[in-house]
Amino acid sequence: MQTRKVSPSLLNRIIFIESDDADDARRRQLLNIILVGVFALTILLLIIISVYVAINGLGNRPADMLIVFGIAVGLLLGAAVIYAINRRVRGGAASAVFLVFLVILFNFADTPAQIANGRSLVLFVIPVIMAGMLLKPYLSFVFAAIVSMDIAGIAILNNFPPNFPAMTVFFLLALVSWLSSRGLEQALRELRATNANLDRLVRERTKELTEALSREQSEAGRSKAILESIADGVIVFDTQGEAIEINPAIVRLLEMPYERLHGITIDELTRSKALDSKNRGVLAGLLSDTSQPLTSYRIRWDGKTLSVTSSQVFTPEGARIGTVAVFRDFTREAEVEKMKNTFLAMVSHELRTPLNAILGYAEMLKEAVYGAINEKQERIAERIMSNSRHLLDIVSDLLDQAQMEAGKLTILARPFRPVELLENVHSLMDKIAADKGLALTSECDAELPEWLTGDQARLQQILINLISNSIKFTTKGAVHVRAFRQDKKHWALEVRDTGIGIPPEETALIFETFHQVDSTASREYGGFGLGLSIVKQLVNLMNGKVNVVSQVGQGSTFTVTLPMIISRRRTIK
Ligand code: ADP
Repeated sequence: MQTRKVSPSLLNRIIFIESDDADDARRRQLLNIILVGVFALTILLLIIISVYVAINGLGNRPADMLIVFGIAVGLLLGAAVIYAINRRVRGGAASAVFLVFLVILFNFADTPAQIANGRSLVLFVIPVIMAGMLLKPYLSFVFAAIVSMDIAGIAILNNFPPNFPAMTVFFLLALVSWLSSRGLEQALRELRATNANLDRLVRERTKELTEALSREQSEAGRSKAILESIADGVIVFDTQGEAIEINPAIVRLLEMPYERLHGITIDELTRSKALDSKNRGVLAGLLSDTSQPLTSYRIRWDGKTLSVTSSQVFTPEGARIGTVAVFRDFTREAEVEKMKNTFLAMVSHELRTPLNAILGYAEMLKEAVYGAINEKQERIAERIMSNSRHLLDIVSDLLDQAQMEAGKLTILARPFRPVELLENVHSLMDKIAADKGLALTSECDAELPEWLTGDQARLQQILINLISNSIKFTTKGAVHVRAFRQDKKHWALEVRDTGIGIPPEETALIFETFHQVDSTASREYGGFGLGLSIVKQLVNLMNGKVNVVSQVGQGSTFTVTLPMIISRRRTIK
């Protein structure tokens, strides 16, 4: 909106008086208004008389007409002089002259009899009331006294008795004028104080706001500078999912113009042609999921691999204000990772064939297929076999790991019997447990359906990894395996041992690839930290969960919880 400064009108300029004392200005302006009124009325009077004389002539009392003219001209001159004084002299000088002038004028307005005791007395009320308004309130009394003395003087000079009731009325009117002028001045003073207070408040608030604004601007500037210097691409979405802040790195990374990216919605971004269609759902979920404080994922964008991390932003009071998404170019790392996995898969696969051959030949050697061997040779053949088996296990683990990382391992959904699963595990692990002097026991919960759907071979692999660990880390006691129904929708496999246990700070880490609680060279146990990582990844692929409860020196319990898919075979059976 445009505001126009309005210049004051001529009348306003005539009346307006500037003074550092607001009361002085108000009183002098009031006098100006009265003077302008007097001036205007006198001119009107002169016009009317001129018109009357022009039509009717001077009549039979021309002297009276001249007196009226004279008075009118005198009034004009008097008003002009007083106006000039009022303009220049501060204080009540002009008003005092005006009021005295009025009193003198009224003395000639009528016959002495009328002035002393008659109808003209009423005229003298005017200066008494005006004195309170144009000068100080108490000066009403002074003017009451002046006009009283004036009419008393005229009465005495003309041999009339002084009119005391009229004088009393003057003083009563002075009292009324004094009270109302004083009330008015008091109210004005309070109003001015309130205004001054308001002005001060407005000034203070404006100053505070200006300071806060400049502070905010400098903070915003700093945040912007930080954002712009970040090498990763950053997009800040508001709660409506619209990009309110982006940095130059994101423009380069997504190869989209700044204008197109700024203000883009999550929906528009995920519908972008550059995004691999398989990643659309993932990216939309990642950016819109407000339940997770921090999540990250990899997406393919126009031939590049980008790692996207999204996190929710909250105010200190806990209100969500938006989502920050950080995009990092992961293309190179992804390529190296892919190469590593391919290499690992290839090497593992290539190692398996010769290893199997070594195992087979050692077995044949031991079984004396190539002629009789002595006891020492038999022991050596057995060691070749056990070491080859161990190597084969490692190679299988590496292959599984590589396949899972490449996302190539698939989980089958076939009917199987949990009882049979446990029986197989027994046949594979009983001897190993017995060799260490440990009892391997198992139980299958009667509430568990006889047939379930799942990948029996992979479930067996999970159990063997867990049981191998339990046997490995237990010297005395037993390893107990249990398959049971956990609730209506889940079943579980549990492996419990009485081994060395795991320190609490390690329980979350042991499922990471190559992590071992004690990885020093002096470590007395074999293995290289892949078993539990494979268990965890397999369980994830089966939409399940694995957790561990352990106490150092007491033993550990690993539980794998899986969704229960009851096989239809149960009904056919
Ligand atoms: P490893 O090949 O070393 O056994 P895993 O991934 O199977 O690798 O296990 C990781 C680490 O977790 C082990 O090195 C061991 O320190 C600890 N751990 C696993 N199972 C048990 C257990 N039953 N009792 C005690 N520690 C265990």
